[in-house]
Amino acid sequence: MNRPAYPLSAEVQARFAGLAECADKRIVADMAELIRNGTDRELNRVNVLEFAQRHGVNEEGVIAAFVHAARLGLFDMVWSLLCPGCGGVLSSNNTLKHVHQRDYHCALCATAYEPTLDQMVEVSFTVNPRVRRIAAHEPHKLPLWEYYRQAYWSSGIDVSDEEYDRLVPQFTLAALELPSGEQHTLTVELPQKFIIVFEPVTHTAHFIDVQGEPTTETQEMKVAFDHEHTPVPTTSMRPGPLRLTLQNRIETRALPSLFIADDPLHDMLVEKKRFLTATRLFTNQTFRDIYRTDTLDIDQRLKITSLTFLFTDLKGSTELYERVGDLVAYDMVKAHFHVLNDVIAAQTGAVVKTIGDAVMATFPTPDRGLAAALRMREAMHALNQSRDGEDLLLKIGLHEGPCLAVTLNDRLDYFGQSVNIAARVQGLAMSRSIFATKPVVEHPEAKHLLDAAGLTPVQQSAMLKGISEEFCVFEIP
Ligand SMILES: [Zn+2]
Repeated sequence: MNRPAYPLSAEVQARFAGLAECADKRIVADMAELIRNGTDRELNRVNVLEFAQRHGVNEEGVIAAFVHAARLGLFDMVWSLLCPGCGGVLSSNNTLKHVHQRDYHCALCATAYEPTLDQMVEVSFTVNPRVRRIAAHEPHKLPLWEYYRQAYWSSGIDVSDEEYDRLVPQFTLAALELPSGEQHTLTVELPQKFIIVFEPVTHTAHFIDVQGEPTTETQEMKVAFDHEHTPVPTTSMRPGPLRLTLQNRIETRALPSLFIADDPLHDMLVEKKRFLTATRLFTNQTFRDIYRTDTLDIDQRLKITSLTFLFTDLKGSTELYERVGDLVAYDMVKAHFHVLNDVIAAQTGAVVKTIGDAVMATFPTPDRGLAAALRMREAMHALNQSRDGEDLLLKIGLHEGPCLAVTLNDRLDYFGQSVNIAARVQGLAMSRSIFATKPVVEHPEAKHLLDAAGLTPVQQSAMLKGISEEFCVFEIP
């Protein structure tokens, strides 16, 4: 179907011109094109990794472009908590500050999950209402199945429109829109299956385990929807007629549905999409530069199950000042910071902080951190060569592990034993050898890198300050 392109106001065009100044122009053109010609659904909670794949452009560039676009008011950043089981959105907001540390309960899965920034928090981007109005800006007016598609299973599940239209009728026994404060009674014939009464606005569920001899007698049940989150009850019933009374006690409409927990429902939820996690966004330098402190509340601590830490320290600058003089030495130390920043950004990492000549950086995966470390070492060699010496020595340490994301000293920082270990491991480096821990060198992709470079890590055990047991570390020659 051909729709006329959505017109962009002069103000929006000016903002796009501003965006093109600080982001990849090709990506910016693709974003403008999406706003002009995309469907409403395509502009709701844009999955930027999917966007990068569809347009054949670099993921990091797309993340940076959308972060800038959010700053310019073209898109709004949406932080959603996704259920790892069913891919449903358990909570969604325009700030991460609403995510709490307590467990999130998914009614559809009847399971509680501790929120983690790398497995459960998705960051997506919705077009700003002043740029273009889309139906999802008023989710409570979306047609029932569009609400499920765009607000509940928004960007977490990977199902085509055709599959969605084919599977929904197969697992749905009934579904209706129930206005605020109203009650409705419906009669359904219960098949001998496991049935889920589910309501996505309140995240309420009630399970019906249908088994035993079929009956012709009408069974009765009542389910009310409110904001109370109780454990999901299970009622046993027999195959046959059910008179089900549904009661909406919330201030908006409710969308109660009866699902058959069988293959078609499973088929729809099984494929999960790759999505931009909060952790990945935190390791994007553009995001760190723009949202320095305004991401987490001062007392908020959120779990990350895996993050790769790289610490560097520069040695030899004193001797260098002695040999070549202050000016030249200063330029070289500055050049070293430039090199480090470039290498870190190229490997999808970000600098968390610098302390004197030391740098702390994070990466989403160990192989990225290792690739950066190897590249840094080469770049330092080239830098020294340009001055006919080996004055500057970069000592590098790497570790991967869980941590907490926190706001500390006005910056988004990380806290925990993994951070301490990474810093201590860096302290073991005495020469150009890179020191790394087991989770780094045994990461499959990192192993590939080492093999490709013909490097064999040498295992040794070391005492790390503040860590009681002997620690296994690897020296990468
Ligand atoms: Zn779930």
